[in-house]
Amino acid sequence: MLSRLPGVKPVEVKSKNELERVSGLILPGGESTTIGKLMRDFQLDRAIGERIEKGLPVWGTCAGMILLAKEIVEEPNTYLGAMDIRVRRNAYGSQLDSFTSSLRIDPVSNLPIPLVFIRAPWVERVYGSAEVLAALDGKIIAVRQGQMLATSFHPELTGDTAFHRFFAEMVFRTQGC
Ligand code: GLN
Repeated sequence: MLSRLPGVKPVEVKSKNELERVSGLILPGGESTTIGKLMRDFQLDRAIGERIEKGLPVWGTCAGMILLAKEIVEEPNTYLGAMDIRVRRNAYGSQLDSFTSSLRIDPVSNLPIPLVFIRAPWVERVYGSAEVLAALDGKIIAVRQGQMLATSFHPELTGDTAFHRFFAEMVFRTQGC
């Protein structure tokens, strides 16, 4: 998805060295407990946290949203604890309750954006400087806070690059482009 965007060179980040070279970071979906453990094992958690504090634009999709949250419902542990959001894991139910939808999300695109939810979290509360970008059926599914973005859904599993473009523009702005 990123390689379809002009001016964007996507790379995978699996080490601290690779992290140093990027000007924006996407925390993908998957299983937040596993990604959280791997981040710790490869000492990426502190390195990512420090770069976020210094203003690295970051976008968490699904499990990535959970990694960014300061609060996770019914779980004592958090991971990066960067965003002023309280999230509920697997909020829509099990794998079988995965679903698709679509929604117009104004600052991102003036066309409806396809949404894919896979054992997705939702956001139960935003506070501090976090702002709701989108809600579906009364549930918050996208949040922005300064250089940080979090979505319950998976734009990379659709053909629509609107959200990737939106994030790339956040990154370009921090670079003064
Ligand atoms: N349910 C997963 C978790 O709690 C997230 C699922 C996903 O990223 N698609 O980590």
